[in-house]
Amino acid sequence: MENLLIKNAKLRNREEVVDILVSDGKIVSIGEGLKLDTDKVFDAYGNLVTPTFVDTHLHIDKAYTAFYGRSSKEETLEESIKIMHDSKRNYTVEDVQKRAERAIKESVKFGVTKIRGHVDIDTIGGLTALEGCLKAKEATKDIADVQLVAFAQEGIFRDPGTEELMYTAMDMGADVVGGMPAAEWMMDESRKHVDLVFEIAKKYDADIDMHIDQTKDPLAQSLEYTALKSIKEDYKGRVTGGHCTSLAYQDDAHAKKVVELLKLADFNVCVNPQVLAIMGVDSEPRTRGLTRVRELVEAGVNVATAQDTICDGFHLYGTGDPLDYGLLMAYQAQYNSTSSAKIIYDMITFNSAKIMRLSDYGIKVGNTADFNIIFAKNESEALRTRPGRLVFRKGKLIAKYEKEGIFVN
Ligand SMILES: [Zn+2]
Repeated sequence: MENLLIKNAKLRNREEVVDILVSDGKIVSIGEGLKLDTDKVFDAYGNLVTPTFVDTHLHIDKAYTAFYGRSSKEETLEESIKIMHDSKRNYTVEDVQKRAERAIKESVKFGVTKIRGHVDIDTIGGLTALEGCLKAKEATKDIADVQLVAFAQEGIFRDPGTEELMYTAMDMGADVVGGMPAAEWMMDESRKHVDLVFEIAKKYDADIDMHIDQTKDPLAQSLEYTALKSIKEDYKGRVTGGHCTSLAYQDDAHAKKVVELLKLADFNVCVNPQVLAIMGVDSEPRTRGLTRVRELVEAGVNVATAQDTICDGFHLYGTGDPLDYGLLMAYQAQYNSTSSAKIIYDMITFNSAKIMRLSDYGIKVGNTADFNIIFAKNESEALRTRPGRLVFRKGKLIAKYEKEGIFVN
């Protein structure tokens, strides 16, 4: 029996520091003055111990395709799409696997052990990306739980042949059905796109995670259609919309109704602040690219935040650290208090876990011992300093992220 003891842990829901005793990968006791006679004792020195982070929106197939630079001169969305098409045409299974594995491992280093990887399914790259990502998932299964989304990035009707590929992707082992209704030319086809995604999901009893209304066009209204469909198809709580940007460009009366519907549908919204802030060139004043985060949170809709892209045709930067994009969320949604820092911390932990429908998540007796020691005393300090951390999975230390600055004079 392998044991582990974490001393002096600051849990988010308790004032006093506690010890956490782990046995055979499970949390068996939480309390004060716990003892263990082995050298597997870590002192958290009153720093945060929180469940490992969850990143529900990460394009692991595209990651690092821009590692040697993003060559676009104009930096427009159209240019980004062209860059991504060119790199997709050149995918090999080995190349995708290598980059996807790297994206997973980099995320683990920052304490993310639950990842939903979105994988392009289209007639440009075919199923090569999925093959590579399935291999990466298998190769990293000891350090991370990975779900793969079959994502019709180029549309389904706009890219004939994709419908068949989506079914094949699910047969090959994709876990979640994705889509991008705004990629279709006509509103009518966007709706058919959503219908088809539900049809596929129901056939495989799979959850749905689509990129929805990732546009500044207020007439892009697939969000409410999808939310209503979630209710009608008995899919409440199982559907996630990524970005949902157009909601911010609709008038307040319309948006209010949509937010109400999202709440009724137990809908999840995943907001990815980095890529949308940088992608596409605006006139001044430049957009933040965010949906109505504060209104959704206030209405009780489950809102998460995620990395989305790391160093690809859409976004040159991105580290995979949830505290990086969490901090950007604070800036963009203008969350500027210690209490709202907690809201952001929920977005990168529990709210994301809800999207992946993880049971057994959180620091509780009986749960799997997946947690991070974060060297900060509270959530706002964690976001402000994005400090070093120790990553534990099933009661074993699997990664150390060290960060130290030395003042020299
Ligand atoms: Zn995305």
